[in-house]
Amino acid sequence: MEFLSNRVNRIQPSATLEMTSKAAELKRKNLPVFNMSVGEPDFPTPSHIQAAGIFAIQNGHTRYTPGGGTRDLKVAIQKKLKRDNQLDYALDEIVVSCGGKHSLYNACQVLFQKNDEVIVFSPYWVSFPDFISVTGAKPVFVKTNKKEQFEPDFIDLEKKITKHTKGIIINSPSNPTGGVWSNQAIKRVLDLCKDRKDIWIFSDECYEQLTYNVPFKSIASFEPNNKNILTFQSCSKTYAMTGWRIGYIGGNKKVIQAIAKLQGQSTSCPNSIAQYAAIEALTGNQACVKDMKNIFLKRRDLILSYIKKIDNLECEIPNGAFYVFPDFSYYLGSKDKDNNILQTASDLSLYLLNDTGVVTVSGDSFGAPGHIRLSYATSDELIGNALRLIKLSLKKLIF
Ligand code: PLP
Repeated sequence: MEFLSNRVNRIQPSATLEMTSKAAELKRKNLPVFNMSVGEPDFPTPSHIQAAGIFAIQNGHTRYTPGGGTRDLKVAIQKKLKRDNQLDYALDEIVVSCGGKHSLYNACQVLFQKNDEVIVFSPYWVSFPDFISVTGAKPVFVKTNKKEQFEPDFIDLEKKITKHTKGIIINSPSNPTGGVWSNQAIKRVLDLCKDRKDIWIFSDECYEQLTYNVPFKSIASFEPNNKNILTFQSCSKTYAMTGWRIGYIGGNKKVIQAIAKLQGQSTSCPNSIAQYAAIEALTGNQACVKDMKNIFLKRRDLILSYIKKIDNLECEIPNGAFYVFPDFSYYLGSKDKDNNILQTASDLSLYLLNDTGVVTVSGDSFGAPGHIRLSYATSDELIGNALRLIKLSLKKLIF
């Protein structure tokens, strides 16, 4: 007899976290591992932020805080959103959660339910469909144009907006593609929703500080009076703080209040020490953000130069985040030395793992069959070694 709830059976384990644990398993066996699957900066948390965390521990910032975050952190977030994104949110329009993932999960919980449809653009971040499904709502997938930074296919989008549509989730810069949408594409989406006050527009901006040679513009800044746009940001990628777990939302007061209530009855509050350190991250010296971004840009160009040297691999130039998302379709249907046919990108990703120790994430889990995601949030040396190994390994495939 099935004893687990339908709710939990509606969702899948996180594919990216699964690859992280596969890499750890290889490492435990002392096998060489080249981890290109990581979704986090490889830098330590900047020292001034570490110091704020230590100060918090030693000075009593170690107790429960309000469910939606401390007032001081909300003030810091308010300043940051004004400084970097030209967004004006009142303090009661801001809520702090245990990471951006928690923010997105909770917003889906308070807004969506059975019979609702929520639009997600493919390729999508692995967690979006599950955040939606767990509420009982239905994720609806819209195609994108890979030649245009994975902007929406507007014909498909118009078709998929129905009377049941309750939300649209936008993630630019994107995980897994690194695509950054143009202002024109964003305006077009907003225009399509202008007469639909029942549609919530989620803007997942967790990579907002990581755009290369193109400016970033927060979606809510296009329509400052549009109360249906929710802005999601996080300290994770911007300040190399993935383990601290601080994310936040700016948006409609009623939604924000509902999320704070839900948190009060689930996690109680975000970690008090991390909240204290996040104030320093958001309002302290921002030089570290630029320094990390400059390194990522160099690595992006480095990995693209290696990809160019691999036959039959197509890869767009991503304008943001720290991923490349090449199309490996040419290699599907080939065989390895034991005559196993590599039918899908997942088969290919597993083949690369076993043959070379290079850990990647298959596009199958991002709704992009044929593609494989490679993260360049790792050293130049590892990027070089991994890409050389991939090249050799693909050469061994039999057609
Ligand atoms: N949104 C996207 C697109 C992501 O890639 C991630 C993390 O990988 C998150 C949100 C959540 O990050 P965090 O929960 O660490 O803030």
